[in-house]
Amino acid sequence: MGGLPAASETTLQHVVHRGETLSGIARLYGTTVNDLKLWNGLVHDLIQPDQRLELRPQYRTLPLADINLPRIDTDKWRHLIIHHSGTPAGSAKVFHDFHLAKGMENGLAYHFVIGNGSHSKDGQVEVGGRWLHQLHGGHVSSEVYNASGIGICLVGNFEKAHPSDKQLAALVELVDYLKNKTLQRRAKLHLHRDLEQTLCPGKHFPADRFRELFG
Ligand SMILES: [Zn+2]
Repeated sequence: MGGLPAASETTLQHVVHRGETLSGIARLYGTTVNDLKLWNGLVHDLIQPDQRLELRPQYRTLPLADINLPRIDTDKWRHLIIHHSGTPAGSAKVFHDFHLAKGMENGLAYHFVIGNGSHSKDGQVEVGGRWLHQLHGGHVSSEVYNASGIGICLVGNFEKAHPSDKQLAALVELVDYLKNKTLQRRAKLHLHRDLEQTLCPGKHFPADRFRELFG
């Protein structure tokens, strides 16, 4: 055995050589810098020698069995809204209990929660009951946006701390999957503060890079 690498290794991944750029690699494979970033969870253009780049979507961090429901109400969801939790720690379970205690009958106000290593794993995507049952959210003040917006919450207070690389990579994958695959580009991405008077998701959230990636 040995010798040539398996075909799948040569066609599915590109190993970065010194001096290569994302735009050069994109040209090499007839794709775009934006797609390379989506497929690799990159929110910046920096790549390192010996880094392996995926050449097609992976969605490895996503719990696809829970995201791909038999009935997704694709007409209902027109917006994807990003939040931070505003707390240093948490998880879907922690926020579910908190929202129940606040009197929200459906509990967890978000559809998805992305952990930071406190009560769930760093970069872990958790699916909430409101996604599983295709219920409206409770994550914004506006009932219009709650009825038509998928709420995604990153655990952390990004006024004080930075989101982790794993959280951002998972968010890129989740938004790419929901927006471009599940909803076939019919939903628009927003930060909470684009819609309402709030700092959410905090000044350390890389807003410009996400706008570049998802338009
Ligand atoms: Zn928010």
